[in-house]
Amino acid sequence: MGFKSWRTKDLGIMVRSGNTGIGNVANLSKDVSSCGSLSEYCKEFCYMGSAYYKSMTSAMKAHKRNTDIFKMIDERNLWKQFIFDMVSLIEDKQLPLFRVDVNGDLVSPAELDAWMDIAAMCPNTKFWIPTKRFYWLDDLVVDDINRLDNLSVSVSVFFNMPDAVKAMAFDTGLPVAYCDSENVHKYKVCSKPCETCRWCFDKQQSVFLPMHGTEAVKKRREYTA
Ligand code: SF4
Repeated sequence: MGFKSWRTKDLGIMVRSGNTGIGNVANLSKDVSSCGSLSEYCKEFCYMGSAYYKSMTSAMKAHKRNTDIFKMIDERNLWKQFIFDMVSLIEDKQLPLFRVDVNGDLVSPAELDAWMDIAAMCPNTKFWIPTKRFYWLDDLVVDDINRLDNLSVSVSVFFNMPDAVKAMAFDTGLPVAYCDSENVHKYKVCSKPCETCRWCFDKQQSVFLPMHGTEAVKKRREYTA
């Protein structure tokens, strides 16, 4: 399967048409420096983390470039420019599904607001944003997310997070993207690729994502032994 990549015309954000894991689904990635919750539980188990600490492939360089652009947008408050730039790409390419942050996370609450505006302006595209920034998601933000039929935001939970952190995620009432869990039976198990599955793009759908990356799986086995 040949995947393409595009850059938005104005800000030069790289959007890919898909990858082997998710299929033909438009997506963008940032690097680990965008993850505010890159705390010990992430650093130990995130496949991105273990990869990043070892090497810097060309894909990772592209993720870093996207991260730098998003941080610049946030610092200079260019979110309106971002919205029109992204909407223009989505309309031009007629994208049915858009997965935000395959790697990385939202850089600020303003980025989430911008994606909500983009979703409202692109009703024919379904968006999915998994995030560990659930400490930003108060009731008002969750209400705004729930008003949009085509935007699904999932709280991303690692099995080794402290209970208080997990509770903060569950309290949002949003669907959970649970990475390894003692409660696996409660969730649908991810059935890649997203292109045909689409589960997480439908609102209020929780999912169990098995750990990926040999190192992470090995560490999780040690952790739970
Ligand atoms: S459950 Fe489906 S939509 Fe969600 S991540 Fe897995 S393949 Fe993608």
